[in-house]
Amino acid sequence: MSSVLVSGGRVLDVATGELHENDVLAVDGRIVEVGTDVRAPGGTDVIDAAGLVVMPGLIDAHVHVTAATADLSAISTWPVSYVTAHAATNLRDMLHRGFTTVRDASGADFGLARAQREGLLAGPRIAFCGKALSQTGGHGDGRGPGQTVMEDTHYCAGLGRIADGVDAVRTAARDELRKGAHHIKVMASGGVASPTDRIDSTQYSDAELIAAVEEAGAANRYVAAHAYSARAVNKALRAGVRSIEHGNLIDDESVALFREHDAFLVPTLVTYWALKEEGVSYGLPDSSWEKVDAVLDAGLEALERAHAGGVKIAYGSDLLGGMHRHQSREFRIRAQVQTAADVIKSATLVAADLLNMSGEIGQLLPGTRADLLLLDGDPVADLTVLAEPAAHVLAVVQDGVVVVDRRQGTR
Ligand SMILES: [Zn+2]
Repeated sequence: MSSVLVSGGRVLDVATGELHENDVLAVDGRIVEVGTDVRAPGGTDVIDAAGLVVMPGLIDAHVHVTAATADLSAISTWPVSYVTAHAATNLRDMLHRGFTTVRDASGADFGLARAQREGLLAGPRIAFCGKALSQTGGHGDGRGPGQTVMEDTHYCAGLGRIADGVDAVRTAARDELRKGAHHIKVMASGGVASPTDRIDSTQYSDAELIAAVEEAGAANRYVAAHAYSARAVNKALRAGVRSIEHGNLIDDESVALFREHDAFLVPTLVTYWALKEEGVSYGLPDSSWEKVDAVLDAGLEALERAHAGGVKIAYGSDLLGGMHRHQSREFRIRAQVQTAADVIKSATLVAADLLNMSGEIGQLLPGTRADLLLLDGDPVADLTVLAEPAAHVLAVVQDGVVVVDRRQGTR
């Protein structure tokens, strides 16, 4: 038995945004008690949190840990071993920013998730989808117009696979589920980093989307859909997808559909800012860079519309290549239209709900995993505390183990 007591800190209740002076006791990686004067068993490691704020570990619901470059098409030509080395670095850095769980929105597989779980890699635990399903010429089709062959076998590190038609979509979804996918990702509209599609296109027919939703549902999993325009978003929501990724161009009808279907929006605003500023230097082809403007400014408006409409909103970043270092900047961007408490909820409670991991992560309660951060200030009062983790996240505890410790200057 291993036990750890986080003692004397102010614990953030992410549901209310309030701080309470409490101790947190974890045994074998799970919290057993939160309260005052908690009695710890003999041999308990004590973490002195006096003067610090304690909050649940963060959840980023849209990352691509294998996206070592913004030239996504290139990744499928790289050796898996090399991509894995990049993923290990991305994962470690995410953990250092306070993210103890991530949902990978295509690219990561059961091998990476297992390596993290077994402690071979330091990083957030990974809820993965394997490869995203895309129609021919869709956002997951990395071929330029002059290419015929698509490298999308399992032994190739690309982010997407092509499946056209209801039967092929079913087979692809079942295949990803066979490999342990936590969710199925479908490309339901054009995107920035794909060479031949248009942002305003819809992708997949209703029948294909419904087939993916049926297959995921049969396995008690769900579908996450990449979509920008209201036309694509609304079509995907009607088909029964659980989360819309990006959603920069949603309309009022989208908001009503989100509520009607109890679906989630996962905005990823920081990636458009980063792609515009730095994308080309990290491998984004010019043809993709020219598409960024179509979604950049609309993104904040979409967040505001969804927030005002009471849509469940989860934290996402979607960064590629060397731009991963901006992962925590999303906190600051969202604070332009949401309260700090709401943004924090997006990265804890709401994201846990989206991942079907409520009661496991996202809150500090008896029974949840002991994933927590020690902060030098109150993030509800100032989101800079989370937006600048190297300065303010003093320690990260994951499954009851201190995995990042800046208190002794061990950066
Ligand atoms: Zn993405």
